[in-house]
Amino acid sequence: MLILDGKEVSNHVRTSLIPRIAAFKNKTGRAPHLAVVICGEDPASQVYVRNKKAACEKVGMTSTIHALREDITQPELTEMIETLNADEGVDGILVQFPLPKHLSTHEVLQTVSPLKDADGLTYKSLGYFFAGQPLVSPCTPKGVMTILKHYNINVEGMNAVVVGRSNIVGKPMAMLLTEANATVTLCHSKTKNLAQFTKNADLVVVAAGKAQLLGKDDFKKDAIVVDVGMHGSGQGGKLCGDVRFSELEGWAKAATPVPGGVGPMTITTLLENTCLLAEKRV
Ligand code: NAD
Repeated sequence: MLILDGKEVSNHVRTSLIPRIAAFKNKTGRAPHLAVVICGEDPASQVYVRNKKAACEKVGMTSTIHALREDITQPELTEMIETLNADEGVDGILVQFPLPKHLSTHEVLQTVSPLKDADGLTYKSLGYFFAGQPLVSPCTPKGVMTILKHYNINVEGMNAVVVGRSNIVGKPMAMLLTEANATVTLCHSKTKNLAQFTKNADLVVVAAGKAQLLGKDDFKKDAIVVDVGMHGSGQGGKLCGDVRFSELEGWAKAATPVPGGVGPMTITTLLENTCLLAEKRV
């Protein structure tokens, strides 16, 4: 079985960004700049935000963290985002979710300018994306496509199944696979007899958010299996995905492990998207 190594692909993409960032610096006198907004003290979000800043700095991009108090009001947050929208020195904006409960995710998704939406998840960005005119594509599904491309896996004509229909992963994943000429079935929590669909698929992308939901018996021989799931609840508290990866050896043609599969590609694609938005604006 071919292991689709997300760390390797991620290193490859990050290396390819370095000359683009240098060229941008030469042209503008500054590095592409990702502004990350975080409200409150959620420990997991603090770690994610620090990781994003470190990843930016490693490839020579600028990242600023705008840490706002937990009790910030909606108008104050909107004003902060509008200031970043208007700041010529900011290329990408990322608002870290989840927000404190009194704030509206809906309003934030309407406020970030699509020209600076590095995550590609605001309503306007998703509108452009689903209309086939993306400014940038949502990071996780785009990262999956980058992995497939890196390993010369051409999905054209494949029967592909996506398990999960979130706006962040499942729906945009189905869209990207459709655009790459796969025939896509989108399954979800109300799908009857999920295995009937996954067992007939050449490619299955699993983003159900259910630890170790699928195993060998759910896939046909020589299927390609991409596991987006991420859980800290595997054996011995280890990180695991939505797929029982150990069952796939000798059965699947190729698969992504967890950790080390799709995960590393999400931040890398965020860097790529920020770079792309910076280049487009300049
Ligand atoms: P979500 O909870 O928003 O969506 C899960 C989807 O799966 C829903 O559409 C639901 O209908 C479907 N689903 C749930 N149970 C199912 C079942 N038994 N059978 C079929 N469908 C089922 O989750 P999400 O934000 O899309 O994330 C999915 C998983 O991917 C999570 O584990 C999350 O942690 C992980 N994730 C990883 C990355 C990464 O960088 N690797 C990024 C985003 C999300």
